[in-house]
Amino acid sequence: MNHKYIYSLYIILFIIIFLICITTTYLYSSDIFIFDNSNIKEHSFIFSNEEFCWPIPGFHKITSYFGPRVSPTNGASSNHSGIDVAAPQGTVLYAITSGKIIFTGFSGANGHTVKMQSGSLTILYCHVSPQYIVSVGDSISKGEQIANVGPKYIIDVLNNPYKDSTGKATNGALTGTHLHLTIKKDGIAVNPLDFFQ
Ligand SMILES: [Zn+2]
Repeated sequence: MNHKYIYSLYIILFIIIFLICITTTYLYSSDIFIFDNSNIKEHSFIFSNEEFCWPIPGFHKITSYFGPRVSPTNGASSNHSGIDVAAPQGTVLYAITSGKIIFTGFSGANGHTVKMQSGSLTILYCHVSPQYIVSVGDSISKGEQIANVGPKYIIDVLNNPYKDSTGKATNGALTGTHLHLTIKKDGIAVNPLDFFQ
């Protein structure tokens, strides 16, 4: 046992502690990252930011996310072009940003729909009430009311091909009242939740 041996032992011990510290820091920080990420996806979208406001305050339950999915009902897409937010009929819907109304009307599987153009973005509010409160050409400001959540069943569309299992005509392809929100950038559907982080 000489000084040289003890010195080497200290060096080795130091290296081991150093490696443990590095590994722990790495694991810890990657845990934090995963936590932050899930937090954004699950909760942060409920908050508005400077450019966009949440279209349906008080309702944050996403019943169907953007992207591939199992089609929930006959005629509904298996590659979901937007998000669904469950809410009762009549719930007030707000313009997520400022823009111009370019369409109001029945639009196939989307049911009664309000379409707004804002720069390169086209924003679709689907399965809304047929009692439209905006008209084509209207300029709408961010946060202004744009529509109401529509009923599940409608009677105002002739030869409506969308029906429930009992044959009752529905407001597009849907299983319950909700807002379907689509955002297209230059004509291509993008994930609406990306706008509310
Ligand atoms: Zn939908």
